[in-house]
Amino acid sequence: MYSSYQYKVNTALDLLLSLVFNVNTAEFPRVHRKEDNLKLPKNKEILEINSGQTLSWDYVKNINLAKHAGFCYGVKRAVETVKKLKAENSAGNVFVLGELIHNTDVITELEELGIKTLYEVPACGDGICVIRSHGEAPEVIDRIEQAGFEAVDLTCPDVKKVQRKAVELAKDGYFVVIVGKSEHPEVIAIRANVQLCSDKVVVAASVGQLKPYEKEIAACRKVGVVIQTTQKLSTLNSIVDYLTPLVQELSVANTICASTATRQREAQELAQNSDLMIVVGSRKSANTTHLAEILKDITRTIHIENDKELDGFAELINNSREIAVTAGASTPQVIIEKVVSKLKNYR
Ligand code: SF4
Repeated sequence: MYSSYQYKVNTALDLLLSLVFNVNTAEFPRVHRKEDNLKLPKNKEILEINSGQTLSWDYVKNINLAKHAGFCYGVKRAVETVKKLKAENSAGNVFVLGELIHNTDVITELEELGIKTLYEVPACGDGICVIRSHGEAPEVIDRIEQAGFEAVDLTCPDVKKVQRKAVELAKDGYFVVIVGKSEHPEVIAIRANVQLCSDKVVVAASVGQLKPYEKEIAACRKVGVVIQTTQKLSTLNSIVDYLTPLVQELSVANTICASTATRQREAQELAQNSDLMIVVGSRKSANTTHLAEILKDITRTIHIENDKELDGFAELINNSREIAVTAGASTPQVIIEKVVSKLKNYR
């Protein structure tokens, strides 16, 4: 069964082909979409005309790529600066403390350039040791310098802002709540900075994690809240709702970085009009994982690390017509391009 729209397109196509190619299209098998009730996509085109035996055409999928997919400025700055440091110090050591970004291809590329990853600060060493965009505890930076390295601080300026805000709140006598996962390197560094001037600080990624501190928090007149730069706004809102009736004075700083906020907002808008959202990036990346979590509430969403993982979702992709792709802040452009290019091969 064809809709009248499909029928008109078919008839026009028949006429065009018979005039241009002098072929009788009735002889060729055709592939049409099977779902009669699927809404019509915005564009349509002939997918393939094999001069041999098969004429195949269909409504093409709309594949939308988010404008803000991939490296944020903080990650771009870190990757470019590390490469530049190595180019300027080709004979010397350039290390990064911890993986510069959550992407194995990039880490391998850096290693091939001679930029090595350290997983802990050695007792002694020489050359440059880079602090990645997540930031580091001041005590760790001291140890890097004491070991004999030159510490080059590439903490993202937006992460620095959170560190400064949290310290400012602590100095003003606020009990500081850091919203984020306690094991996240950015959170570890924010807390370490606060602990230089106050021991009234807790980390919580949910209301449940804050509840054990309820008495301690309620006993404080003033509570200040900051949030890790790539967290979800909904998590901040739920924590603020929980704290509001508990404390006399609540100071909340929404320190989610502009890059994350823009990426999340844009992806949410795309998801509203998509059958399928594809989030590309490492499962170790907090911002990528949060992006997928947010989108799952809006439409069908899959989180993949690279184009090869698309194969596991072939049926889902074949049955989707409006597909949008976004990617985390540590996903290189080349990986995003491979995903988009491979998507075009699905029906
Ligand atoms: S995600 Fe935001 S805070 Fe983190 S490096 Fe990128 S711009 Fe900076």
